[in-house]
Amino acid sequence: MNVFGSSQYSETNKFISNLEQSIKSFSSKLDKLQNLLEENHKSVQIQEEQIEAIQFTCVQIAEHMTRGEISLQSIKESIEGQAIMSSAILDMQCVLGVNNKYMIKEMSIVDTETWATQHWIFKHSKSMEDNKSRKTNKWLERNYHQLPIEYGDIEYEELGKILNSLKFTRIYIKGEQKKQVLMEYIPHVALINIEDLGCPRLDQICDDETLPCCIFHMKYNPKQCKFYKVFAIRKWFVNNS
Ligand SMILES: [Zn+2]
Repeated sequence: MNVFGSSQYSETNKFISNLEQSIKSFSSKLDKLQNLLEENHKSVQIQEEQIEAIQFTCVQIAEHMTRGEISLQSIKESIEGQAIMSSAILDMQCVLGVNNKYMIKEMSIVDTETWATQHWIFKHSKSMEDNKSRKTNKWLERNYHQLPIEYGDIEYEELGKILNSLKFTRIYIKGEQKKQVLMEYIPHVALINIEDLGCPRLDQICDDETLPCCIFHMKYNPKQCKFYKVFAIRKWFVNNS
């Protein structure tokens, strides 16, 4: 009995000792698990902070993009505004072709905003004349513009190309006949007869001695020059618009 009793006791102790070791081992595993959980928690926190930082950066980028879009919009509006505002004064000296057709001999254009200017004298080597137009043109040459029909810097056939290369959205011109001449070539441009805005006769506004004229006309009467006249019309336009 005693023998069995002490044996049972030792078995029980062994069992208890094994149990204690198992508990220790579980406890150590639990500690490790807890550590892992804590580390994991920290890592989740770091990730959350990083996500917040990224979200903040995204908001900043979105704000920059909005500001960029506003700037682009205002640049676009300013460019469109300039395009809408681009206007010029054009004047021309005409000669007569067959069947009373008006043809341009001298032509000048000046920007209403910037003083940018262009001037052409056309030679009519291929243009047709009849008896009536020949007579009229000779009279005009002697008494008015001094420009022989065949004299010029550029062939009259280039006129369409020149007029279509001008990028003004509005062109002011003095007189209905001149407006009709332009209309044939550039019907897409807003052509405004400046007389409709109250511009008086040319002899009433050609009084400024300081305005320029072309080199051809400087030895004749500079005030008959179309280069001079666009500047005189422009001066009236600026003072009255
Ligand atoms: Zn001239």
